[in-house]
Amino acid sequence: MPGFLTNDAIIHAPETRTSSPISIPRNPETLQHVQIGNLYPCAEGAGYAGGIVSAAIDGMKCIDVLFLAINI
Ligand SMILES: Cc1cc2nc3c(=O)[nH]c(=O)nc-3n(C[C@H](O)[C@H](O)[C@H](O)COP(=O)(O)OP(=O)(O)OC[C@H]3O[C@@H](n4cnc5c(N)ncnc54)[C@H](O)[C@@H]3O)c2cc1C
Repeated sequence: MPGFLTNDAIIHAPETRTSSPISIPRNPETLQHVQIGNLYPCAEGAGYAGGIVSAAIDGMKCIDVLFLAINI
């Protein structure tokens, strides 16, 4: 692995997957689960983010539509 392999390392552990292999289905407009109302599948575990920033942005998107839904 050019650029990564070195004799100074004790263990090499390449990250082979950077985001969830599954997506929990959600309505693209309301961001709620397609069958369970008021459930907002969000960020990495739900399959909508792959890192810190994308998880945070997806959380903000869900909060925005939630606040719209309850008129805050
Ligand atoms: C070792 C490591 C290094 C990483 N380095 C980077 C990096 O350098 N840059 C980058 O962009 N991303 C990195 N990531 C990925 C990043 O951390 C995640 O993509 C991000 O934290 C996902 O955010 P999330 O809110 O979706 O999930 P999480 O941050 O995992 O939040 C899920 C939360 O749900 C809580 N929870 C779980 N089950 C329950 C339950 N039943 N009831 C209540 N609460 C529950 C957990 O305690 C947790 O607080 C790294 C990840 C790891 C593991």
